[in-house]
Amino acid sequence: MSKNKFSKYFLFVLLGAVCLSVVAIIQTNTGSIGKVKGDFAVGDAGKLKVIFFDVGQGDASLIITPGGEKILTDGGPDNTVIRKLGEYLPYYDKKIDYIILSHPHADHVTGLDEVLRRYQVGKVITTGILHTAPDYLEFLDLIKQKNIPVEIIDSREGIELDSGARIDFLYPDKSFAGTKMENLNNGSIAYKLSYASTTYLFMGDLENEEYLSSTTPLILKSDVLKVGHHGSANANDKEFLKLVSPNFAIISVGASNTYGLPGFRTLHELGQDGAQIFRTDEGGDIECVSDGMRANCTKLAK
Ligand SMILES: [Zn+2]
Repeated sequence: MSKNKFSKYFLFVLLGAVCLSVVAIIQTNTGSIGKVKGDFAVGDAGKLKVIFFDVGQGDASLIITPGGEKILTDGGPDNTVIRKLGEYLPYYDKKIDYIILSHPHADHVTGLDEVLRRYQVGKVITTGILHTAPDYLEFLDLIKQKNIPVEIIDSREGIELDSGARIDFLYPDKSFAGTKMENLNNGSIAYKLSYASTTYLFMGDLENEEYLSSTTPLILKSDVLKVGHHGSANANDKEFLKLVSPNFAIISVGASNTYGLPGFRTLHELGQDGAQIFRTDEGGDIECVSDGMRANCTKLAK
């Protein structure tokens, strides 16, 4: 082999080795290419998956439909959500179909700013409520900069997802756009997710759940309840919990939080109704999987 040929051969081998190392590093960081944490890959036929992320004291959850549509509700109090999305989605998947911001308190909106910077977001769903905290203003600014379509929830509308899954917004049923609210929690979006005969109720931080008990009592029954306001005893009154009567109650709450959350009364009443309670502060992320007939929730290892 001539010196020139040998150099080319050496360069080729070296490039090959570098490529293999890069692939090995990616596989170490993501599990393996295309595979994600949990028990099935993104867009698994026939299954709808909801992951409630452990983001400390805050809320962030990801719905993945059977066809692979992704809906992120809230982003938690910091950028933990970016790490979580990286654990559950393949490294090359940077698309989120919908972001739903329940309300603009920092423990719900902060992580979404970095999601908007790093991911291609199809649509943002929010109430347009007035609030001047920096994280929320940045959120609004990023939406504008990136020209992302926005849908304001001001009536009981719905969105159709693939495979017959759908989201029906229950609250607000009037416009809060441009208005200031004394208690921002009561400006939270609440919605019901359905897939065939399984149902999930997402309550944001809504504390006037009595309004839903009186206006939509017959559609509250759900298999899975994302408990309102981190399980606070100010929300989740007895009659409401009875109407929902969930098999699984998910409480997104920070370990050793200083707010005394979740409330003892809420835990007691959920337990009395026979709900199996999952808390993000006790076991990390929680995954609920539905095959259309049955929804089942499990704790994922930290
Ligand atoms: Zn909150």
